[in-house]
Amino acid sequence: MSLLLRRVKLAGELVDILCENGLIARIAPALPEVVADQVLEGGGKAVVPGLYNGHTHAAMTLFRGYADDMELLSWLTTKIWPLEEKLTEELVYHGARLACLEMIKSGTVFFNDMYWHFHGTAKAVEEMGLRAALSAVIIDLDDPQRLKDQIAANRELLQASRDYSERLQFVLGPHAIYTVSRAGLEWVRDFAEEHNLLIHLHLAETEPEIRDCLAKNGQRPVQYLADIGLLSRKLVAAHAVWLEDEEIATLAKHQVKVIHNPVSNMKLAVGRTFPYRQFAEQGVLMGLGTDGCASNNNLDMFETLKFSALLQKFAGDDPTLQPAAAAWRMASEDGAAIFGLAGGVVAEGRPADLLLLDTDRPEMIPGHNLVSDLVYSASGAVVDTTIVAGKVLMHKRRVEGEEEIIAAARDAARRLLQG
Ligand SMILES: [Zn+2]
Repeated sequence: MSLLLRRVKLAGELVDILCENGLIARIAPALPEVVADQVLEGGGKAVVPGLYNGHTHAAMTLFRGYADDMELLSWLTTKIWPLEEKLTEELVYHGARLACLEMIKSGTVFFNDMYWHFHGTAKAVEEMGLRAALSAVIIDLDDPQRLKDQIAANRELLQASRDYSERLQFVLGPHAIYTVSRAGLEWVRDFAEEHNLLIHLHLAETEPEIRDCLAKNGQRPVQYLADIGLLSRKLVAAHAVWLEDEEIATLAKHQVKVIHNPVSNMKLAVGRTFPYRQFAEQGVLMGLGTDGCASNNNLDMFETLKFSALLQKFAGDDPTLQPAAAAWRMASEDGAAIFGLAGGVVAEGRPADLLLLDTDRPEMIPGHNLVSDLVYSASGAVVDTTIVAGKVLMHKRRVEGEEEIIAAARDAARRLLQG
């Protein structure tokens, strides 16, 4: 399968791009002799890498707008958790499909997910053509039987995930240190080592997490995890906001990767700001995430790009903090590298995960600096075409079957509330 993009603008120059077998095979000023299975006339649209959403809970699109403006714990216990108990694999599938549609329409090519009913999300990813790192939620609440069940389920899922395409990566998802026992975290450590799996964990999101960890273990979360041996290059820590300098140095030493979720952090008022400057100084690999639609409430990485840069500048009282190019890198090249992927760069030999942008839209004019426009001015609506692994998932803002996906998600949300 080959795809030829004709007359697209790469770093200001018009080029043709040939994609073959999911990779960018050739980039040249013109490729007139090439015959491809599919040809897209770019018409001078800008080509950029697709975006990497480092932390979300895709199927929570079904919860969008259901409960807002609440205090975190009562929000979870009175609204989110009771509804989650009623979820089925089929409902998760419809929610995740809606999430994939929204992501494709706003230029996201990959997402890192943690949610219930793994196969519902996996099936949606397979059909929609995105890339994803998917984990089941591991929560044992210090209950040995529950842990045993979850270990069995994760062993099974690892096997089953091998039947999905290579766009899908199986990851372990211990929810957080306050919901997973020490024994559970030790099992995650060993199983990840044995099967070379990434670990996706919420870390240091709120003050109670720190307080409880100190009370229970006499240690702050990072030291607690270091003692267990869970800190390594395999660990992807979402949030990572309530950290002392010493803990940031420890995370850096163990090459832990961190995901900044600015919109969710602000909406839930977690009380601290992601320590971007310290992470950057320590050379920690950082990505960006939207978090789930119950706490964002959309999956538009362009919005997250802007929020992340603005939040840093505002909280740090320094307009030079997290410049546009650094933010863009977190959502593209570094966001991909965190998950062992070579995407996020438009170059020969890299995955053909590309966006064509409509730079004739008013918010992209006059176009002094594309990266500045993408971070500070654009929304996902500037994306005209989304390509993943050389396959066109959206062209001229049309995604195949989108009306049916939307209708089915509406119906799923209605049934969830009634059920
Ligand atoms: Zn989350």
